[in-house]
Amino acid sequence: MSPEEETPEPGNDHIEVSPAPLPGPLDRLSEGEMERKQAIARVGTQVLNSLTAHFLDQGFDWLLPVVFSPSTDPLWPDPGASIEKRIEVEIYERTVRAMLSMIVHKMVACSLAYPKLFILSPNVRIERRERGKTGVHTYEFSQFDFELRDASAQDVRELVEGVFHGLLHDLAANRQEDLDYLGGVNTGPFEAPFRVLDRVDLEEEYGQDWEARLSADLLQPAWVVNIPREFYDFEDLETGVWDNYDLFLPGIGEVLSGARREWKHGKIVHKIERDGVDPANYELLLRLAEEGRLRPSAGAGIGLERLIGWIVGARHIGEVQAFPKVPGSVYDL
Ligand code: ATP
Ligand code: ASP
Ligand code: MG
Repeated sequence: MSPEEETPEPGNDHIEVSPAPLPGPLDRLSEGEMERKQAIARVGTQVLNSLTAHFLDQGFDWLLPVVFSPSTDPLWPDPGASIEKRIEVEIYERTVRAMLSMIVHKMVACSLAYPKLFILSPNVRIERRERGKTGVHTYEFSQFDFELRDASAQDVRELVEGVFHGLLHDLAANRQEDLDYLGGVNTGPFEAPFRVLDRVDLEEEYGQDWEARLSADLLQPAWVVNIPREFYDFEDLETGVWDNYDLFLPGIGEVLSGARREWKHGKIVHKIERDGVDPANYELLLRLAEEGRLRPSAGAGIGLERLIGWIVGARHIGEVQAFPKVPGSVYDL
């Protein structure tokens, strides 16, 4: 069995949020719960409006998502990943997979055609059922996934900090009443640039459980850099330092993951072999790299349910979804 098919051991998991009731289906909400659901939707609409507007202002192309493809994120080796099943089906004599993330598509699209792109991308990750209780995992969710050709990690962090600032400003200007009613997080003021913390230092300070403990300690957003994970994130093979970054927000923890990318063929082949990932699932990416057509880029994906859930103070991010997808429970819709 290749590591892509194995079920990884759970890594640093998130803190268990209060044992609040799990989000119920729409048809079972009380009147009060329905009012809350509607206020969350208004805030969520503003978040989508602001995020897309800020990226469009900066000249990004907005691409439509892919749902099935032979190639998707290996999600391996990622200490945070914990999925119990991968969705694979045969269509037209080929095996395709439900998108775990559109990372491969982003790298190809950004290299060949769209130097600045974003996609609201639905991801299906059948998380282990115990993750129903973390409050920050659903088994379907959406990433605001973007990629920028020739960008550095610093460029991406600055872009995100600017967008984040604009988003909070738009929320305060347009949805303050809903935010007051929902009693969400303290949305600022947050001072950019956010602190940049190295994962090695965090492990020293907090131990292996650094993600949960950092999230509980943070008062301001912070970047965590240098996290060993999938082959597509850039790694300096001599120093072992990774040029990637996650954005952590107070209370909720990780809301964004991203990196500067690998683009050189030999290095990608080496990392895929090292990870025990099946190269057959990355044929096109490898061919483009070999032909010198894969270009340097950097980008990230923001978990929209987590971002909105943090803003509204959701007890479980499934509250943000019209049709909650809580690990361990399949509702009628
Ligand atoms: P975690 O360690 O928190 O489980 P991850 O690092 O495995 O997440 P990524 O592969 O980095 O997740 O996915 C990009 C972003 O998508 C995350 O930063 C997060 O905001 C969001 N995300 C990932 N998994 C889930 C999930 N099961 N439910 C909701 N959002 C998710
Ligand atoms: N969207 C992430 C990125 O851009 C990849 C992921 O979902 O893991 O790096
Ligand atoms: Mg991540």
